[in-house]
Amino acid sequence: AEPTESPLLAGLNPQQREAVEYRGQALLIVAGAGSGKTSVLTRRVASLIETRDAWPSQILAITFTNKAAAEMRERVEALLGQAAQGMWISTFHSACVRILRREAEHFGFGKNFTIYDSADSRALIKRIIKDLDADTFGFTVSGVAGKISKLKNELSDVESYARGANFNDPQERVFLDIFREYTRSLSSANAFDFDDLIGQTVYLFRAFPQVAALYQRRFRHILVDEYQDTNHAQYSLIRELTQPPRTDLLGGATGFDGSLLSNPTKHLEPASLTVVGDSDQSIYAFRGADIRNIVEFERDFPNSKVVLLEQNYRSTQNILSAANAVISNNFDRKDKKLFTTIGEGDKIVGFTGYSQHDEAQFIADEITELHAQGLEYRDMAVFYRTNAQTRALEEIFIRSALPYRVLGGTKFYERAEIKDAFGYLIAVANPADPMALRRILNTPKRGIGGVTEAALQSYADHHGVTLREALRHADEMGFGPKITGAILRLGATLDEVALTADTAPVADILTALLTKTGFVEALRASRDPQDEARAENVEELVAVTKEFNKNNPEGTLLDFLTETSLVAAADDLDDSSGTVSLMTLHTAKGLEYEAVFLTGIEEDLLPHRMSANEPGGPAEERRLFYVGITRARRKLYLSLAMTRAQFGDVSVAMPSRYLQEIPPELIEWRQSPGMANSRGGTQARALNARRGGFGVESSGPSLGAGYAGSVGPGATALARAARAAQPKTEWANKVTNTVRDNGDLSLAAGDRIRHVDFGDGRVTAVTGVGPKSVAEVQFESAGRKRLLIKISPIEKL
Ligand code: ATP
Ligand code: MG
Repeated sequence: AEPTESPLLAGLNPQQREAVEYRGQALLIVAGAGSGKTSVLTRRVASLIETRDAWPSQILAITFTNKAAAEMRERVEALLGQAAQGMWISTFHSACVRILRREAEHFGFGKNFTIYDSADSRALIKRIIKDLDADTFGFTVSGVAGKISKLKNELSDVESYARGANFNDPQERVFLDIFREYTRSLSSANAFDFDDLIGQTVYLFRAFPQVAALYQRRFRHILVDEYQDTNHAQYSLIRELTQPPRTDLLGGATGFDGSLLSNPTKHLEPASLTVVGDSDQSIYAFRGADIRNIVEFERDFPNSKVVLLEQNYRSTQNILSAANAVISNNFDRKDKKLFTTIGEGDKIVGFTGYSQHDEAQFIADEITELHAQGLEYRDMAVFYRTNAQTRALEEIFIRSALPYRVLGGTKFYERAEIKDAFGYLIAVANPADPMALRRILNTPKRGIGGVTEAALQSYADHHGVTLREALRHADEMGFGPKITGAILRLGATLDEVALTADTAPVADILTALLTKTGFVEALRASRDPQDEARAENVEELVAVTKEFNKNNPEGTLLDFLTETSLVAAADDLDDSSGTVSLMTLHTAKGLEYEAVFLTGIEEDLLPHRMSANEPGGPAEERRLFYVGITRARRKLYLSLAMTRAQFGDVSVAMPSRYLQEIPPELIEWRQSPGMANSRGGTQARALNARRGGFGVESSGPSLGAGYAGSVGPGATALARAARAAQPKTEWANKVTNTVRDNGDLSLAAGDRIRHVDFGDGRVTAVTGVGPKSVAEVQFESAGRKRLLIKISPIEKL
């Protein structure tokens, strides 16, 4: 080996090293979780610069979250120092915003465009559905939003949709009207929705080859992480950027980098493309992600090189074996064998709680124990399938005084008062946007109600001006003097502050708006105690703008709006904080923790009941489970509850079908203390044998049929075969041991019962029928409880 080898290659295995050093046109790195894909991408970026194969400005690296981008930038800086400046390391969305801010004027948008987040899009759709009376055709906001988003991800627009539409179908005609109106509203508001950011950039490149040429020529090296989750629009963007640059179109154009354009014939070959991904971790099909993008990479990019990474550096052998076993149940995949040298490690811990509170209590106790053993809170994470699961966890965490934070819950930027404050900023930045203006018309209260707003809008429509312009004509609309005065004052304030929008620091702009309009003052003066907290949040936002000004002395209002509009769930992570992280499985992608708790491993949650009956649904949910398992470095916990209250209803939960796929010897099952000695164990075992060995009694036909029936014919047969082959797996025993079945125990108001934990009590009411019957019991010392009769540890006295 060379004595003076680059430190960039230190510690890499031969395949990783090959991927870092390869210099051909197209490189595909496929590998399972934790094999160093993201690390290799980072080193490759650094290597390209170190070997002088690229200038920083010629690199475009796409990551999945802004946080991942910031991390990659930090690591490249650590490896290279200042040289990392000028690189584009960002998400698809922020890269496209940067391009659009520069180029949107080519196709009729202003560079001060607003970005509508999904709440904004929904508000607009709601309005349109109402205006068009489309709800009478059965259209709902989420139905329409989902369909439009799907179309945009496929790069379909109103015209192309209309070409394929069936005009005899009134539903389709109405949808087309909605879609058209939505598109028109966005463009007249000078706004893009999230999906547009990518779709419109592709459109820009296709419609204006000279613009495309600039970027094709600028970016010589494009690198994409998590390629398995790209959708068609993102894929098309990559295709556009990797076309041979049309240097003939550039002529004497001034580019981004004078030194490059001084020799226009120098770089004619297309940009090099590196993508890394793992088709087993594709979890965004519902958002249009297309696994074929990675599967067909070799066909799309002939002469591409493929590197496989097989060593996992993250997890213990037990965790890895569980992950491998689960994912091998998916068909249509290339089998990858990951190995690790970390060692077997601890067994995976399984826990079945009596209720979701019991489950949460177990997790809180374990976290406390791990912390006492020296593990930092920030090295632990709890994952769940649905946001609704956080409530029970949070309750117990608060009671146990555990520091935690929920990622992607109601985010700071989604709070109403913060959106109001942003409404002011956007109204100043983009006067064409009526959405922002509507939000603040009557915030703080100025007596501008729905009727006044409608009159302003109709004036705007009638005179062909923006809503903002209409404010200036309030005195022509016959309003009373008080309202007229309020509207004129608001318009004047916005106009006045707008004069400084391009130059003043954002903090000054925000402060001016908040004081001139009395926004914070109104919150402070309110008698609603919530308003105090709201005022503090708004002040926190002022602090955020000051911070922004400090870090970006040149940063404008538009820069600030861009940065804050693209914050994604995983971006609120702050590793330095000593808190346990709670997040959905989707948000967990790409992250790693010493200890991971996977909760609610039950049918209807994982797989989620919405996806269980969809083609490909159970396979995608299995990948989600695989993603969850592979986040863990040393400790993995799988927990479930026997009953779960959801949508105000208590139902019996069944263990997830995926649990059965983990070899039983890898899991050590623990039980809820209250159940360990319950006599239900034997009964459940007997019941279990009767039913062919698997699972817990279900709460009704939907669940009972669900297990075998929802998987599709092939899988049903398989499930049956699996059950026949293993009439009593160790696993099934362990789980069902903890489950009790009271058979047909019938209770009526007035009966006296005894409960293992709560003691004696009297039944006050019984609701529901059959296995779903719930007894309301007044206990002598434990107070009032609602119990699912079938499985509660109770006996009739
Ligand atoms: P995922 O599929 O979950 O996104 P990944 O393939 O991107 O995973 P990384 O996150 O890059 O994997 O790496 C996983 C862990 O392994 C990280 O902690 C990383 O620092 C470590 N790692 C990667 N390569 C090596 C190596 N050659 N030597 C030691 N540690 C490594
Ligand atoms: Mg990764």
